Amino acid sequence: MAGEHTQETTELLQALIRNQCVNDGTPDSGNETRNSDLLRTYLEGAGVEIQTFTSRPGRDSMIARIEGTDPDAPTLCLMGHTDVVPVSPDGWSQDPFGGELLTGTGHLGQPITEVWGRGAIDMLNLTASMAVAFKELARSNWKPKGTLLYYGVADEEAGGVWGAKWMVDNHWDSFLGHNGRLDYVLTEMGGWPHGGGEKVGITVGEKGIAWRRLRVKGTPGHGSMPYGTDNAVVKAAEVVSRLAKYRPAARLDELWAARIGASSLPEHLKAALLDPARIEATLSELNPGTAKLFHACTHTTFSPNVVHGGVKTNVIPDTVEIDVDIRTLPGVTNDDVDGYLREALGELADEVEVSRIFGDEATSSSARTPMWDILTRRTQVVYPDAELLPELIVGATDSRFFRGKGTVAYGTGLYAPSVSFEQFATRFHGHDERIDIESLGLCTDYWLGIAGDLLG
Ligand SMILES: [Zn+2]
Repeated sequence: MAGEHTQETTELLQALIRNQCVNDGTPDSGNETRNSDLLRTYLEGAGVEIQTFTSRPGRDSMIARIEGTDPDAPTLCLMGHTDVVPVSPDGWSQDPFGGELLTGTGHLGQPITEVWGRGAIDMLNLTASMAVAFKELARSNWKPKGTLLYYGVADEEAGGVWGAKWMVDNHWDSFLGHNGRLDYVLTEMGGWPHGGGEKVGITVGEKGIAWRRLRVKGTPGHGSMPYGTDNAVVKAAEVVSRLAKYRPAARLDELWAARIGASSLPEHLKAALLDPARIEATLSELNPGTAKLFHACTHTTFSPNVVHGGVKTNVIPDTVEIDVDIRTLPGVTNDDVDGYLREALGELADEVEVSRIFGDEATSSSARTPMWDILTRRTQVVYPDAELLPELIVGATDSRFFRGKGTVAYGTGLYAPSVSFEQFATRFHGHDERIDIESLGLCTDYWLGIAGDLLG
């Protein structure tokens, strides 16, 4: 029966919100052990095996498992992070950690019931609905062919150092099913209907990060006599300007073709956006929001964002440091990035020392999998004509650690038509975060259906 689990998912979500597992990026924040214990207690007694992992005191993660029986059947992990980002309470019209249930208004003006609080859409809603689906399967004494895992993970919001990254590095075996593999991970950042629900986006890839520090060298001297001097700030200004103008060629891969092919843009625009010779000119004709996103999806991007240099007003500076936020497409390596920088700087490259300050390669999963067909079918329960749109996101989630191990990872979910994608978008890490309870019920049924279809 549709919506049968709505109340149970709602209550679990309220409890997860009230635990206030706020991750501010410092190692002792988060306190996800509170949510890990809550999930453990919730799932215990349903006859499942549960393991807890302590990467650091207070930062537990947990895995629950229903073991499969057929060595040829796949393994699926439902992964939900248990931490949330901080709030600015002044911007909220309700208690951000109250988990209150209130009547609101959908995008067509209809009354809806919503759970309020930090994490309501990112992503305690999914973490709760996955747990309820998992428990329902366990208590029905389900004996699947393939293994089902439920993973409640800490520290997603600060890069997974004490969560998924640590687990994949130190406890990879815990994710392997009866077939010795982890075939699929399903997690956040997808499933919102576009337009009237003819298209539903699923995240299949994430751009990489290749931050660089450029140290521009000059010769010190007295500021009263600048003629003919080698001033590092002047040189750095030229470096910044070259970086801002630099455009490595667009890369129009299979993912881009699928995204544009499935979009509702007019045919002549689609053709132009798929043509390497015309895409740059076409981007400038789109509305600024779409242009920015489409540019980021098809280019490795360079944004010089921090500059430090100079010591005193009367001293010609000999050093300026420029930090550049570089985001890479799937397949672009660190060496490629260094090559791009040399190309951007031209003859100035010899006067700039480049160091790597942070990096994480881009990742992507194929959209041609049996799971894709299952997601399509299960989405069509709510949006009968929906086609799934494979999407690349420009941010990062825990999926990247699993893709790095060869696992297919998708960002997905299922949401009621009563709230628009635009409404959801403003609530991510924003004020007044909330979720309608109808979506909580739909999501729970979605995971139940997927697990049943895939694992048998
Ligand atoms: Zn999230």
